[in-house]
Amino acid sequence: MSKPLGKILSEGKTKKVRETENSDVALLEFKDSITVLDGEKMDVLRGKAVINAHISAYFLEILEKKGVPTHYIEFVEPNMMKVKNLEMLPVEIVCRNIAAGHLVKNYPIKEGTLLNPPVVEFYLKDDARHDPMLNEDHFLILGLASRGEVKKIKEITLKTNRILSDALKAKGLTLVDFKIEVGRGTDGKIYVGDEINGDSMRIWEVGTDKILDKDVYRKGGTMEQVLNTYIQLYQKLLGKMPPIRGTKNE
Ligand code: UDP
Repeated sequence: MSKPLGKILSEGKTKKVRETENSDVALLEFKDSITVLDGEKMDVLRGKAVINAHISAYFLEILEKKGVPTHYIEFVEPNMMKVKNLEMLPVEIVCRNIAAGHLVKNYPIKEGTLLNPPVVEFYLKDDARHDPMLNEDHFLILGLASRGEVKKIKEITLKTNRILSDALKAKGLTLVDFKIEVGRGTDGKIYVGDEINGDSMRIWEVGTDKILDKDVYRKGGTMEQVLNTYIQLYQKLLGKMPPIRGTKNE
């Protein structure tokens, strides 16, 4: 018999954070829910938890190997990651290589435009205020981070972008944009936390521009199309079918 899981410390739309015997370590348990528009649209997609947990572990392991500090410790079957407990910043950091999504909606730029250098944006995580964009001065006046930390966060984001773009290119995929979250470790340093997978990235197939991420759901795809998209992304990255038959993770 496996040990019961630790107490739930917090629960978001797509993950639960669980306690472990070590207060410096947490367990991130992925859920099968899929949401957009700050949770206004939400569905259950059986198998997504397992797929996204594996893909997050895959990307975080690559980042660790290439010298980006992340919270990742190890994968825990079937849909969890053991991670360092971080003091998370309530900030989303977006990095864009190709214009899409909100950049195209809010600025006079056409979808598909190549962005060189990549564009880095910061957003305050605040559903009631619809996640307002932050500049570097806002970090200071809101007491979120020092100037040095903001510089470090930008450096880490751009390095993450280079590493993930190369890793995806090697699989015939283009990294259009992605979101990361960061936090402070017990050593006071900045680490990449949270998840990195088809929920937090835009990925297009080289040559066809076929969408392999959550945009299929955002654009109103059926649950079958959305699940197939997540399965295809898993297959392209890990070279095998995801172990999702009969899984249920709520
Ligand atoms: N993103 C995310 N969580 C959010 C908002 C955006 O993971 O709350 C990701 C999104 O998947 C995309 C990138 O950040 O890869 C840029 O998203 P954008 O600002 O264009 O907003 P969206 O159109 O995705 O709402």
